[in-house]
Amino acid sequence: MIVKDRDFPVNLLFLQAIERRLEENHPSMPRVKELMAKQIKGYKGETAIDYPLSILPDQDYQILHSVSIQYQNQNFHIDTLLLTNNFIALLEVKNMGGTIHFDRKFNQLTQTYMGNVKYYQCPIIQVSNQERLLKQWLEQFNFPTIPLTSFVVISNPSCMIQVDPGDKSTNQKVIHGHFLPTKMEQQQAISNKQILSAKEIQKLTRIIIKHHKGKATLTLKQLNINPIELLLGAQCSTCLAFPMKRTHSYWYCLKCNHKSKNAHIPALKDYCLLFSETISNKEAREYLRIPSTNVMKRILTSMELQTIGNTRSINYILYPLINLTSPSNHDIIISNSR
Ligand SMILES: [Zn+2]
Repeated sequence: MIVKDRDFPVNLLFLQAIERRLEENHPSMPRVKELMAKQIKGYKGETAIDYPLSILPDQDYQILHSVSIQYQNQNFHIDTLLLTNNFIALLEVKNMGGTIHFDRKFNQLTQTYMGNVKYYQCPIIQVSNQERLLKQWLEQFNFPTIPLTSFVVISNPSCMIQVDPGDKSTNQKVIHGHFLPTKMEQQQAISNKQILSAKEIQKLTRIIIKHHKGKATLTLKQLNINPIELLLGAQCSTCLAFPMKRTHSYWYCLKCNHKSKNAHIPALKDYCLLFSETISNKEAREYLRIPSTNVMKRILTSMELQTIGNTRSINYILYPLINLTSPSNHDIIISNSR
C-alpha cells in the first residue's frame, strides 16, 4: 500500500528556477540544462517501478516514495522505502539505457550507450550509505532492531547489466524492475521473523512522513553561479520578460502590456528555491522591486503565509508554496522543457 506518494523532484524545480533567471549565454547554462534532462529522466524512471510495486501484497508492504531526511546536517534521499514486519528495504532507482557494467573492485559503474562511454559512482555504494544513515537515524526512536536491506533497481527493461567474471554479489544487490516482487518474496524468506507489530509500523510511517522535507541537494555554488547573476523580480507569464512593474493593485509587463494579479507567487517560489525559505518585507521589496513597505506588506499578508519572529523582524515562511506533492502542475513544465 502506498502511504507516501512520490514528490516532484525539488532539484528539478531548483534548476528550472535557475533556467528562468539566468542569462542564456551564462557559462553554467549548458550544465543546468544537462542536469534538468537527467532529473526528468530519473523521475520518469522512478514511475516505471510503480507496476512491479503494485503487485506486492498491499497488507504486507507500506510503500513510501521520495523520502528526504535531514540527519547530522546532511540531507539523505531514498527513492522508495518499503516497510514490512520483518525488514525494511531501500530502493535506489536508476533509469539507464544501453549496457551498464559494475566494477566492484573500484566501485565504478560504466555505461555504454550509443557508442558513448560514461563513468558513474557505484549506486550500490550510494544506496548502502543511505541504508547506514537510515539505520543511525532510526536508533533515536527506540524501535526493535529490524534488518535493513537495500537494492539498486534498474527501471529500463532494455538495459543490459554486466559484471566482472566471478562477481557473485552484484546480482544480489542490483535487479531489474520486473524482478522486484520476486526479490521481495526471497527477502521475506530470509528475514522471516516478525520484528515490528502493525502498530509499530504505523508509528514508524508517521515519524518518517513527519521528518520528510524535500530539499534541493544541488546548490548555486556547485553550478558556479553567483546569486547576483540571477534576474530578480516577477516574470511576465506571456512574454517571459523580467521584471514586471507593480502598480497599486496589479503587475504590469512593460514589454507586452500583460497584466497580472498574482505574478509575485511564482516569483516567491523561485526565491524559496534559490535563496531562502523565509523572506522579510525588506528582502521581498528588493527582490520584487517594490518601493513601498505597505504595498509589500499587503501582498505578503494576502498570501496567508505563516510567519516567524516579532513585529519588528517578521519573516514569512515560503516553503509551503512549493507543494511537491501535487505534481500535476509540474508535469506541464516537464513536457515543455523537453
Ligand atoms: Zn510580457
